[in-house]
Amino acid sequence: MSGIPGVTLRGMEALPVEVEVVITGGLFAVSIVGMPDVAVRESRERVRAALRSLGLTLKGKIAVNLAPADIPKEGALLDLPIALGMIQAMGALKECPKALYMGELALDGRLRRVRGAVPAAFLARKMGIPLYIPAGNAEEVALVQGVEAYCADNLAELVMMLTGEETPRPLPPAYVPDLPVSAEPDFADIKGQAQAKRAAEIAAAGHHNLLLVGSPGSGKTMIAKAIAGILPPLTDDELVETLLVRSTLGLETKAGRERPFRTVHFTASTVSICGGGFDLRPGEVSLAHRGVLFLDEYTEFRRDLTESLRAPIEDGVIHVSRASGSVTYPSRVLLVLAANPCACGYLGDPVTPCKCSSYEIERYKRKLSGPIMDRIDLQLTVPRLTPQELLSIGAKGLPSEPSASIRKRVIAARNIQIERWKEYGYSCNAEIPEKLVRRCLTLDDETRSYLASMAGKLNLSGRGISRVLKVARTIADLAGDEKLNKKHVAGALMFRNNQDK
Ligand SMILES: [Zn+2]
Repeated sequence: MSGIPGVTLRGMEALPVEVEVVITGGLFAVSIVGMPDVAVRESRERVRAALRSLGLTLKGKIAVNLAPADIPKEGALLDLPIALGMIQAMGALKECPKALYMGELALDGRLRRVRGAVPAAFLARKMGIPLYIPAGNAEEVALVQGVEAYCADNLAELVMMLTGEETPRPLPPAYVPDLPVSAEPDFADIKGQAQAKRAAEIAAAGHHNLLLVGSPGSGKTMIAKAIAGILPPLTDDELVETLLVRSTLGLETKAGRERPFRTVHFTASTVSICGGGFDLRPGEVSLAHRGVLFLDEYTEFRRDLTESLRAPIEDGVIHVSRASGSVTYPSRVLLVLAANPCACGYLGDPVTPCKCSSYEIERYKRKLSGPIMDRIDLQLTVPRLTPQELLSIGAKGLPSEPSASIRKRVIAARNIQIERWKEYGYSCNAEIPEKLVRRCLTLDDETRSYLASMAGKLNLSGRGISRVLKVARTIADLAGDEKLNKKHVAGALMFRNNQDK
């Protein structure tokens, strides 16, 4: 009896599976038991061909048992441990070192990249045993700290490592540079709109959710997209968190530390945004984890969809459940919303008159309120520039600041926040809980009475005041100011001019 440890996935979690292979005499037959899915059953053919590439021919009655029997085994992750179990049962491999083995086999014995190598690395680390993976997964696993892992291109190479004929091949060094971000458009390409650009910079620096309201042609969508180019690089921990989501979906590892920027359309399904489906996959909100989730034409999104985003935006995690079980995915996103000011799009436009009735305007405004709006720290109107204004900006010949130079300020401000909040386990101002806001974001007397009077005028709730304080803190961090003053608070209040309180 031989037992080779392999893994299967449940959500973003890797679960250990023990592969046992028994060969008895008789007519050739292979049976695999223990809740295997179709891909595992197909494994039989792949493994048989791969073994032939080693010059090994399967004979007799072969029983493969996958334990524990009560968890579904998924995908082709188990090809490698099944093959090793067979080789061992045939006597071609004396001892298989205690380790986790994962990988899909091609018919010629090559090891194919699989999804879930990062979760498997977490499991190997927890179990305190090494991990053997296909070379195609080496890059992502190398980024997981504290795991002993080896990789191989094919089954023959791996078997030679196990028999000691070859030295185990370690993973490449995990070094991820902060490459320059090439986002389109660059802020230098956007004319005017100083206030909206400022809001974008504050949003990127403090990870504050942002709403841009403007007529068609105001450039609100361009500004939203340009945010991708000024986000600070992912920290080491954040990089592994985003890697975990991508690895679970089998997506390629990205070079560099660029934060995710995911745009979703209002026709997207709840499952594609929130996650789920029969195999409980993470959705866009998790792919956007530690980066931006951009909802253009926000008022066109179905109410039930925006409702279902409320908890993940607030909590930073999303619970996905199905009959087959329930899993939790990360969802700490910077939410960027863009919307028209009214149904026809031209309310408040300097040139085109609005055609909406007052009833239509009221009805539309209700779409721009509600539970999600409560979580938006920065809200502002992006005016459409008149042709004269555009011409006069061009005539002055003043170049707009490029994204790369804005990004430098954003990074400096984020580093201040990482330093300030690290003892509490946070990395940016937007995610600070209420009690820390009260304890850490204190004001001098003058600023406090100013905020109190403005809060009265604007009818701000306690929560609204907290949001103002967090944004003010980010404004101060961008300026490199240690103490919060009236100017920072006034700056934050400029972005509360929408309908919410
Ligand atoms: Zn209108």
